[in-house]
Amino acid sequence: MQIRLHGQIAIVTGASSGIGRAAALSLARANARVAVNYHSDADAARALVDQILAEGGHAFACKADISDPGDVERLFAETVERWGAVDILVANAGLQRDAPAAEMALDDWRRVIDVNLTGQFLCAQAALRRFRAQGRRDVSRALGKIVCVSSVHDVIPWAGHVNYAASKGGVAMLMKTLAQETAGEGVRVNAVSPGAIATPINAEETQGPNADRLLKLIPYGRIGDVEDVANAVTWLASDLSDYVVGTTLYVDGGMTLYPS
Ligand code: NAD
Repeated sequence: MQIRLHGQIAIVTGASSGIGRAAALSLARANARVAVNYHSDADAARALVDQILAEGGHAFACKADISDPGDVERLFAETVERWGAVDILVANAGLQRDAPAAEMALDDWRRVIDVNLTGQFLCAQAALRRFRAQGRRDVSRALGKIVCVSSVHDVIPWAGHVNYAASKGGVAMLMKTLAQETAGEGVRVNAVSPGAIATPINAEETQGPNADRLLKLIPYGRIGDVEDVANAVTWLASDLSDYVVGTTLYVDGGMTLYPS
């Protein structure tokens, strides 16, 4: 079954690379208009916008630090100014600043929580305010959809990455609480939690000799692709998942089946 998002307007954060890029492309190919948020790589964001436009879609690039409330407000305002509404938020932007807990710099703890958790909260808050103000519903009558990109480390501890695991554990409860609070209005909030997905940032772990170690943790026997995650995001943003509320979809080849 083909997913169609005709007339829907989406914001994807951290969309100039990796999973966000694939999600933006997938939503655009389902005919959504896509605001491509980026933090630093303007060339990559522009290249993605050019690709979407060349394929006959609609997109524009918007620089914003999602941990900054003013930037988030501007991201939503620019999208509304251009297209009149926002129907879908994919809260994807995230980062890692790894260190053993005893050695972790407070700045690295704060930055990861600020971007991965507070950033998702700020974007979700802006989206909810917008959904309410515009009062516009999709074919299945949803007032708006939010997809949080979390991680298998929202349930699997990750030694050496305490800031990251704490931020994603926080995203799990952020998502569920937002879903419970807003479902009655017709908002659907869900999460996609990727396992090991090959992106430029983790090439060292997902390719070459290190990949074998990783593969032992994945029952399905392969490293994931960004498209695996993008497909799940697009489904959760569409009316095909209309009765799915407050759930986490693990896109992990079964990684979460092993006890941690
Ligand atoms: P990535 O580094 O390619 O993408 C992250 C994006 O977020 C980048 O484009 C980066 O510029 C952007 N970003 C960082 N800080 C930002 C900020 N303050 N404001 C706006 N944008 C910002 O890595 P990815 O693997 O595609 O990660 C995307 C999401 O998927 C992240 O939330 C990550 O935690 C999650 N994830 C990835 C994997 C994986 O194996 N790749 C696994 C689980 C979860």
